[in-house]
Amino acid sequence: MSAQLFVVATPIGHLDDMTYRAIDVLKSVNIIAAEDTRTSAQLLKHYNISTPLTACHEHNESNKIDILVQRLLNGENMALISDAGTPLISDPGFKLVRAAQEHNIRVIPVPGACAAIAALSAVGLPSDRFSFEGFLSSKQSQRILSLEKLKDQTATLIFYEAPHRILDSVKDMASIFGAERPVGFAREITKTFETIKKMTLGELVSFIEADHHQQKGEIVLVVGGATAEKDLEQEKLDQLLTRLLQDLSVKAASQLAADLTGIKKKVAYQRALELNQNNDD
Ligand code: SAM
Repeated sequence: MSAQLFVVATPIGHLDDMTYRAIDVLKSVNIIAAEDTRTSAQLLKHYNISTPLTACHEHNESNKIDILVQRLLNGENMALISDAGTPLISDPGFKLVRAAQEHNIRVIPVPGACAAIAALSAVGLPSDRFSFEGFLSSKQSQRILSLEKLKDQTATLIFYEAPHRILDSVKDMASIFGAERPVGFAREITKTFETIKKMTLGELVSFIEADHHQQKGEIVLVVGGATAEKDLEQEKLDQLLTRLLQDLSVKAASQLAADLTGIKKKVAYQRALELNQNNDD
Protein backbone atom coordinates (compact mmCIF):
# COMPACT_ATOMS: atom_id res chain seq x y z
CA MET A 1 0.00 0.00 0.00
CA SER A 2 2.23 2.82 -1.18
CA ALA A 3 1.43 6.44 -0.42
CA GLN A 4 1.68 9.62 -2.47
CA LEU A 5 4.40 12.21 -2.86
CA PHE A 6 3.07 15.77 -3.17
CA VAL A 7 5.41 18.37 -4.72
CA VAL A 8 4.19 21.57 -3.08
CA ALA A 9 5.02 25.14 -4.15
CA THR A 10 5.40 27.74 -1.37
CA PRO A 11 5.58 31.58 -1.57
CA ILE A 12 8.61 33.40 -3.06
CA GLY A 13 8.22 36.36 -0.68
CA HIS A 14 4.64 37.35 0.09
CA LEU A 15 3.24 34.78 2.53
CA ASP A 16 -0.30 35.20 1.16
CA ASP A 17 0.84 33.49 -2.03
CA MET A 18 0.35 30.11 -0.36
CA THR A 19 -2.59 28.23 -1.91
CA TYR A 20 -5.45 26.76 0.15
CA ARG A 21 -4.62 23.36 -1.30
CA ALA A 22 -0.94 23.65 -0.32
CA ILE A 23 -1.97 24.31 3.30
CA ASP A 24 -4.44 21.38 3.28
CA VAL A 25 -1.85 19.01 1.83
CA LEU A 26 0.91 20.09 4.24
CA LYS A 27 -1.49 19.60 7.16
CA SER A 28 -2.66 16.19 6.02
CA VAL A 29 0.55 14.41 5.03
CA ASN A 30 2.56 12.31 7.51
CA ILE A 31 5.88 14.00 6.80
CA ILE A 32 7.29 17.02 4.96
CA ALA A 33 10.69 16.74 3.25
CA ALA A 34 12.15 20.27 3.26
CA GLU A 35 15.28 21.87 1.83
CA ASP A 36 15.99 23.76 5.07
CA THR A 37 13.93 22.63 8.04
CA ARG A 38 14.54 25.88 9.97
CA THR A 39 13.29 28.07 7.10
CA SER A 40 10.27 25.84 6.52
CA ALA A 41 9.49 25.66 10.25
CA GLN A 42 8.72 29.41 10.14
CA LEU A 43 6.35 28.98 7.19
CA LEU A 44 4.60 26.05 8.88
CA LYS A 45 4.26 28.03 12.11
CA HIS A 46 2.63 30.90 10.21
CA TYR A 47 -0.04 28.49 8.92
CA ASN A 48 -0.40 26.45 12.15
CA ILE A 49 0.88 23.32 10.43
CA SER A 50 2.37 20.83 12.89
CA THR A 51 3.42 18.06 10.48
CA PRO A 52 6.98 16.82 11.23
CA LEU A 53 9.79 17.99 8.95
CA THR A 54 12.78 16.08 7.64
CA ALA A 55 15.72 17.58 5.73
CA CYS A 56 16.18 16.87 2.03
CA HIS A 57 18.72 19.22 0.48
CA GLU A 58 21.30 19.07 -2.30
CA HIS A 59 24.01 17.71 0.02
CA ASN A 60 22.01 14.79 1.47
CA GLU A 61 19.40 14.13 -1.25
CA SER A 62 21.23 11.10 -2.69
CA ASN A 63 21.72 9.47 0.74
CA LYS A 64 18.26 10.34 1.98
CA ILE A 65 16.32 8.97 -0.98
CA ASP A 66 16.26 5.32 0.10
CA ILE A 67 14.91 6.27 3.53
CA LEU A 68 12.26 8.60 2.10
CA VAL A 69 11.17 6.13 -0.60
CA GLN A 70 10.92 3.39 2.04
CA ARG A 71 8.66 5.57 4.15
CA LEU A 72 6.45 6.17 1.09
CA LEU A 73 6.38 2.44 0.35
CA ASN A 74 5.34 1.86 4.00
CA GLY A 75 2.26 3.99 3.32
CA GLU A 76 3.29 7.39 4.69
CA ASN A 77 2.08 10.33 2.60
CA MET A 78 4.84 12.87 2.04
CA ALA A 79 5.14 16.47 0.81
CA LEU A 80 8.26 17.91 -0.72
CA ILE A 81 8.88 21.66 -0.31
CA SER A 82 11.86 23.95 -0.91
CA ASP A 83 12.80 27.21 0.83
CA ALA A 84 10.71 29.21 -1.64
CA GLY A 85 8.73 28.66 -4.81
CA THR A 86 8.43 25.42 -6.72
CA PRO A 87 10.68 22.50 -5.72
CA LEU A 88 13.02 21.18 -8.48
CA ILE A 89 13.16 24.64 -10.17
CA SER A 90 16.81 25.48 -9.35
CA ASP A 91 16.06 23.65 -6.11
CA PRO A 92 16.46 20.07 -4.81
CA GLY A 93 13.88 17.35 -5.38
CA PHE A 94 14.57 15.87 -8.81
CA LYS A 95 16.27 12.75 -7.47
CA LEU A 96 13.46 12.08 -4.98
CA VAL A 97 10.75 12.55 -7.62
CA ARG A 98 12.60 10.25 -10.05
CA ALA A 99 13.10 7.59 -7.37
CA ALA A 100 9.43 7.78 -6.34
CA GLN A 101 8.36 7.35 -9.97
CA GLU A 102 10.69 4.38 -10.39
CA HIS A 103 8.94 2.73 -7.41
CA ASN A 104 5.53 3.42 -8.95
CA ILE A 105 4.69 5.94 -6.26
CA ARG A 106 2.23 8.54 -7.48
CA VAL A 107 3.78 12.03 -7.63
CA ILE A 108 1.22 14.84 -7.37
CA PRO A 109 2.12 18.48 -8.12
CA VAL A 110 0.53 21.20 -5.99
CA PRO A 111 1.30 24.27 -8.12
CA GLY A 112 1.95 27.77 -6.90
CA ALA A 113 4.61 30.47 -6.95
CA CYS A 114 7.68 30.27 -9.18
CA ALA A 115 9.97 33.29 -9.60
CA ALA A 116 10.72 32.54 -13.27
CA ILE A 117 7.05 32.41 -14.27
CA ALA A 118 6.13 35.40 -12.10
CA ALA A 119 8.88 37.45 -13.80
CA LEU A 120 7.90 36.30 -17.29
CA SER A 121 4.27 37.19 -16.63
CA ALA A 122 5.09 40.81 -15.78
CA VAL A 123 8.13 42.03 -17.77
CA GLY A 124 6.41 42.42 -21.12
CA LEU A 125 8.63 40.23 -23.29
CA PRO A 126 7.33 37.47 -25.62
CA SER A 127 6.09 34.56 -23.51
CA ASP A 128 4.94 32.17 -26.25
CA ARG A 129 8.32 30.39 -26.26
CA PHE A 130 10.86 30.62 -23.45
CA SER A 131 13.90 28.76 -22.19
CA PHE A 132 14.59 28.55 -18.46
CA GLU A 133 18.38 28.70 -18.00
CA GLY A 134 18.55 28.79 -14.18
CA PHE A 135 21.81 30.12 -12.71
CA LEU A 136 24.81 30.89 -14.93
CA SER A 137 28.21 29.73 -13.72
CA SER A 138 30.00 31.90 -11.16
CA LYS A 139 33.16 31.51 -13.28
CA GLN A 140 33.30 34.17 -15.98
CA SER A 141 34.91 31.90 -18.62
CA GLN A 142 32.15 29.32 -18.17
CA ARG A 143 29.45 32.01 -18.12
CA ILE A 144 30.72 33.46 -21.39
CA LEU A 145 30.70 30.02 -23.03
CA SER A 146 27.09 29.45 -21.95
CA LEU A 147 26.01 32.89 -23.20
CA GLU A 148 27.76 32.35 -26.56
CA LYS A 149 25.74 29.14 -27.00
CA LEU A 150 22.51 31.05 -26.28
CA LYS A 151 23.28 34.03 -28.52
CA ASP A 152 21.11 32.94 -31.45
CA GLN A 153 18.35 31.36 -29.39
CA THR A 154 15.09 32.93 -30.57
CA ALA A 155 12.99 32.02 -27.53
CA THR A 156 12.92 34.37 -24.54
CA LEU A 157 15.61 33.41 -21.99
CA ILE A 158 15.07 33.31 -18.23
CA PHE A 159 17.99 33.44 -15.77
CA TYR A 160 18.22 33.41 -11.99
CA GLU A 161 21.12 35.45 -10.66
CA ALA A 162 22.71 36.15 -7.29
CA PRO A 163 22.81 39.86 -6.33
CA HIS A 164 26.62 40.00 -5.99
CA ARG A 165 27.03 38.69 -9.56
CA ILE A 166 24.24 40.62 -11.26
CA LEU A 167 26.40 43.44 -12.63
CA ASP A 168 29.09 41.14 -14.05
CA SER A 169 26.48 38.87 -15.64
CA VAL A 170 24.51 41.72 -17.22
CA LYS A 171 27.77 43.21 -18.57
CA ASP A 172 28.67 39.86 -20.13
CA MET A 173 25.18 39.56 -21.62
CA ALA A 174 25.41 43.07 -23.09
CA SER A 175 28.74 42.31 -24.72
CA ILE A 176 27.63 38.91 -26.12
CA PHE A 177 23.93 39.47 -26.96
CA GLY A 178 24.43 43.16 -27.81
CA ALA A 179 23.66 46.24 -25.70
CA GLU A 180 20.38 46.80 -27.58
CA ARG A 181 18.84 43.44 -26.67
CA PRO A 182 15.70 43.95 -24.51
CA VAL A 183 15.77 42.63 -20.95
CA GLY A 184 13.28 42.37 -18.10
CA PHE A 185 14.72 42.93 -14.63
CA ALA A 186 12.53 41.45 -11.88
CA ARG A 187 13.88 41.99 -8.36
CA GLU A 188 12.30 41.08 -5.02
CA ILE A 189 9.07 39.89 -6.65
CA THR A 190 6.08 40.08 -4.24
CA LYS A 191 8.27 41.75 -1.56
CA THR A 192 8.44 45.33 -0.24
CA PHE A 193 11.08 46.51 -2.69
CA GLU A 194 9.67 44.78 -5.76
CA THR A 195 11.24 46.31 -8.89
CA ILE A 196 10.09 45.24 -12.34
CA LYS A 197 11.52 47.04 -15.36
CA LYS A 198 12.05 46.50 -19.06
CA MET A 199 14.92 48.18 -20.87
CA THR A 200 17.93 47.24 -23.01
CA LEU A 201 20.91 45.32 -21.62
CA GLY A 202 23.07 48.43 -22.07
CA GLU A 203 20.57 50.52 -20.10
CA LEU A 204 20.38 47.86 -17.39
CA VAL A 205 24.16 48.03 -16.85
CA SER A 206 23.86 51.79 -16.21
CA PHE A 207 20.72 51.35 -14.06
CA ILE A 208 22.44 48.85 -11.77
CA GLU A 209 25.68 50.85 -11.64
CA ALA A 210 23.83 54.03 -10.71
CA ASP A 211 21.90 52.51 -7.79
CA HIS A 212 23.60 49.96 -5.54
CA HIS A 213 20.20 48.91 -4.13
CA GLN A 214 19.65 47.14 -7.44
CA GLN A 215 22.46 44.76 -6.46
CA LYS A 216 20.52 43.47 -3.48
CA GLY A 217 17.85 40.84 -2.95
CA GLU A 218 16.63 38.16 -5.34
CA ILE A 219 16.68 38.71 -9.08
CA VAL A 220 15.30 37.16 -12.25
CA LEU A 221 16.53 38.34 -15.65
CA VAL A 222 14.30 37.77 -18.68
CA VAL A 223 16.20 38.37 -21.90
CA GLY A 224 14.45 38.82 -25.24
CA GLY A 225 15.32 36.12 -27.77
CA ALA A 226 17.47 36.84 -30.82
CA THR A 227 14.49 37.77 -32.98
CA ALA A 228 12.82 39.93 -30.34
CA GLU A 229 15.54 42.49 -31.03
CA LYS A 230 14.70 42.51 -34.73
CA ASP A 231 11.00 42.74 -33.87
CA LEU A 232 11.74 45.77 -31.72
CA GLU A 233 13.69 47.46 -34.54
CA GLN A 234 10.85 46.69 -36.92
CA GLU A 235 8.35 48.11 -34.44
CA LYS A 236 10.38 51.32 -34.07
CA LEU A 237 10.68 51.69 -37.86
CA ASP A 238 6.94 51.14 -38.26
CA GLN A 239 6.17 53.79 -35.64
CA LEU A 240 8.48 56.28 -37.33
CA LEU A 241 7.17 55.62 -40.83
CA THR A 242 3.55 55.73 -39.71
CA ARG A 243 4.11 59.18 -38.24
CA LEU A 244 6.05 60.45 -41.28
CA LEU A 245 3.43 59.13 -43.69
CA GLN A 246 0.84 61.38 -42.06
CA ASP A 247 2.58 64.43 -43.59
CA LEU A 248 4.86 63.12 -46.33
CA SER A 249 4.76 61.00 -49.49
CA VAL A 250 5.98 57.38 -49.40
CA LYS A 251 9.21 58.45 -51.11
CA ALA A 252 9.94 61.36 -48.77
CA ALA A 253 8.95 59.43 -45.64
CA SER A 254 11.16 56.45 -46.50
CA GLN A 255 14.08 58.73 -47.44
CA LEU A 256 13.84 60.51 -44.08
CA ALA A 257 13.42 57.23 -42.13
CA ALA A 258 16.49 55.79 -43.86
CA ASP A 259 18.51 58.92 -43.02
CA LEU A 260 17.42 58.83 -39.36
CA THR A 261 17.81 55.11 -38.66
CA GLY A 262 20.60 54.09 -41.00
CA ILE A 263 18.56 51.30 -42.62
CA LYS A 264 18.66 50.81 -46.39
CA LYS A 265 16.47 53.22 -48.39
CA LYS A 266 15.02 50.32 -50.39
CA VAL A 267 13.93 48.51 -47.19
CA ALA A 268 12.35 51.67 -45.76
CA TYR A 269 10.59 52.37 -49.08
CA GLN A 270 9.16 48.84 -49.25
CA ARG A 271 7.88 49.02 -45.68
CA ALA A 272 6.44 52.53 -46.21
CA LEU A 273 4.57 51.20 -49.27
CA GLU A 274 3.11 48.32 -47.19
CA LEU A 275 2.07 50.62 -44.34
CA ASN A 276 0.53 53.09 -46.81
CA GLN A 277 -1.34 50.25 -48.49
CA ASN A 278 -2.65 49.00 -45.08
CA ASN A 279 -3.88 52.51 -44.28
CA ASP A 280 -5.72 52.74 -47.60
CA ASP A 281 -7.46 49.34 -47.08
N1 SAM B 1 12.38 27.26 -6.64
C1 SAM B 1 12.40 28.70 -6.74
C2 SAM B 1 11.32 29.13 -7.75
O1 SAM B 1 10.35 28.40 -7.95
O2 SAM B 1 11.41 30.24 -8.28
C3 SAM B 1 13.77 29.22 -7.11
C4 SAM B 1 14.83 28.87 -6.12
S1 SAM B 1 16.44 29.44 -6.52
C5 SAM B 1 17.41 28.65 -5.33
C6 SAM B 1 16.46 31.07 -5.92
C7 SAM B 1 16.52 32.11 -7.04
O3 SAM B 1 15.21 32.31 -7.55
C8 SAM B 1 16.97 33.48 -6.57
O4 SAM B 1 18.39 33.59 -6.56
C9 SAM B 1 16.36 34.38 -7.62
O5 SAM B 1 17.11 34.37 -8.81
C10 SAM B 1 15.02 33.67 -7.86
N2 SAM B 1 14.00 34.20 -6.94
C11 SAM B 1 13.41 33.55 -5.92
N3 SAM B 1 12.52 34.36 -5.31
C12 SAM B 1 12.54 35.54 -5.96
C13 SAM B 1 11.86 36.78 -5.82
N4 SAM B 1 10.97 36.98 -4.85
N5 SAM B 1 12.14 37.78 -6.69
C14 SAM B 1 13.04 37.61 -7.68
N6 SAM B 1 13.72 36.46 -7.86
C15 SAM B 1 13.48 35.44 -7.01
